[in-house]
Amino acid sequence: MRRDLFDEEHLLFRETVSEFLAREVIPRHGQWEKDGIVPREVWKKAGELGMFGFSVPQEYGGAGITDFRYNTVIVEEIIRAGATGLGFGLHNDIMAPYLVDLTDDEQKRRWLPGFVSGELITAIAMTEPGAGSDLQGIRTTAIREGDHYVVNGQKTFITNGINSDLVVVVAKTDPAAGARGTTLLVVERGMTGFTRGRNLEKVGMHAQDTAELFFENVRVPVANRLGDEDGQGFIQLMNNLPQERLSIAVAAVAAAEAALETTIEYCRVRKAFGKSIGRFQNTRFLLAELSTEVEIARHYLDKCVLALNAGELTAVDAAKAKWWTTELQNKVIDRCVQLHGGYGYMLEYPVAKAWLDSRVQTIYGGTTEIMKEIIGRSFDF
Ligand SMILES: Cc1cc2nc3c(=O)[nH]c(=O)nc-3n(C[C@H](O)[C@H](O)[C@H](O)COP(=O)(O)OP(=O)(O)OC[C@H]3O[C@@H](n4cnc5c(N)ncnc54)[C@H](O)[C@@H]3O)c2cc1C
Repeated sequence: MRRDLFDEEHLLFRETVSEFLAREVIPRHGQWEKDGIVPREVWKKAGELGMFGFSVPQEYGGAGITDFRYNTVIVEEIIRAGATGLGFGLHNDIMAPYLVDLTDDEQKRRWLPGFVSGELITAIAMTEPGAGSDLQGIRTTAIREGDHYVVNGQKTFITNGINSDLVVVVAKTDPAAGARGTTLLVVERGMTGFTRGRNLEKVGMHAQDTAELFFENVRVPVANRLGDEDGQGFIQLMNNLPQERLSIAVAAVAAAEAALETTIEYCRVRKAFGKSIGRFQNTRFLLAELSTEVEIARHYLDKCVLALNAGELTAVDAAKAKWWTTELQNKVIDRCVQLHGGYGYMLEYPVAKAWLDSRVQTIYGGTTEIMKEIIGRSFDF
């Protein structure tokens, strides 16, 4: 079915992004996978092309456009290129709402121009060694002392953890108050007592820097708090998580589509028993099932993007999109590996890398189980 999500300007923008990836990223991504990180220069080059911060007001260097279809284009093109090292989705889709909607004018002046130019790379630090799904169980504290908070604690699995300049840290300002005592603070590169641990060795997404972060008596000015008062952090997180989950779902469907495309082509050219493997009924039925499921997912997802633009995407809508599309992505890519036979297990084949890169999708941004909890709770039993 015809996809009618985009207008002419989105399609033109897609060409810009695709050319950028072909020129600056694809030829180097293999090396970055070995390095475990992408160089900061590529962020600046992307910033020059206007790839960051659509929703940032023009006075701070952005486009002043709140339209998630642009974010969608970027994520889709990155995934199609297999450029999973670029943490642009996290920067654009996840961090922009925190830095645009929750900041005061002074914070906007300090952070948004660098956010747009790619000079300030961002991260969000919620997860701790002892608390991931159970976010209320975090133990990092931020205790107020005059004009500062003193932050102590440890975070792990933080995307852009090594490259980041601004880290939104989820901390307890009132440890006795549970979720109501949670506050978001922006910790900046170079603050005394803020250190980075290992760049973690992952199953896939090898060019993405995912790190541990440590905070030891870090004095963070009150001027770096997001929002007007203490204790709003949990609500701020809950408001922004649907957009984060939608971004992950966009990546999921794009990855499934890309894997299917390359697999159908492979099934055309690979021969066994004197004919293309696509001529076996099992292959055709399997590809028929997968392409049906992916197309149905695509249409639900596109509707979610429009709902987000209209301010109507609910936490339940986003949870459905996230768990369904990421589980589908894993199923589709796993079956595509099978159809490649032994070549599907060789990293020189894109489908093998896609298989490794996709596994985390059902885990981060809220696991499949937590998504089902969110949906299940809506029935109000
Ligand atoms: C590559 C990568 C990048 C990441 N990037 C970031 C980042 O940038 N920032 C950040 O803050 N975090 C990040 N994370 C962390 C990620 O969000 C967490 O790993 C995830 O939320 C799960 O938390 P956990 O690992 O503590 O697992 P746990 O919460 O310990 O879960 C373990 C298992 O128990 C299940 N479970 C837990 N609670 C329930 C329940 N109530 N009902 C049923 N089952 C349940 C889970 O579904 C899971 O299967 C990243 C993780 C990875 C792997």
